[in-house]
Amino acid sequence: MHYTILFLAFFACNFSQRTTPSGTPTGAAVPGLEATTDSIVPPAYDANNRLIRVTKTDTDWKKELDELEYNVLRQEGTERAFTGDLVKNKQKGTYTCRGCRLPLFSSDTKFDSGTGWPSYWKPLKPEYVTENQDRAYGMLRTEVECARCGGHLGHVFDDGPKPTGLRYCINSVSLDFVRE
Ligand SMILES: [Zn+2]
Repeated sequence: MHYTILFLAFFACNFSQRTTPSGTPTGAAVPGLEATTDSIVPPAYDANNRLIRVTKTDTDWKKELDELEYNVLRQEGTERAFTGDLVKNKQKGTYTCRGCRLPLFSSDTKFDSGTGWPSYWKPLKPEYVTENQDRAYGMLRTEVECARCGGHLGHVFDDGPKPTGLRYCINSVSLDFVRE
């Protein structure tokens, strides 16, 4: 009797299996996407050169974010694959945190991972993101948060392209885009 063990690499941000390149993305590409925000709020540092954090109450976050944004950013939810308007965006610009407008990723490091979520091989600066071990659902993954407001962005995996070999798999809804 043959047993075939399929090692299903965990490509995606959640349990969805990787969509084949021929799969039809739903609600994805927005040709000529306009900038979703026009402002970047650069980081500020305290006397010890630590990033000054943004803290708000849950009530305030609920006022500022829509339901899906709140679920992903503040409750570590995941948007459905291929539903984000930034997945296929190829314009040059900067991706900021939707919670606090910290610049997080450059279009220069964005690549098409085929997973259905915006993917980058490195953040703009390592100190702009915080990485935490995530043991939810019986898996060990590395969660990525905005270092300033603590908003959940997605996860980072080690199957990305050169030069870092990393894949920051980020929810579109956690980001805004500022076109160059
Ligand atoms: Zn933030």
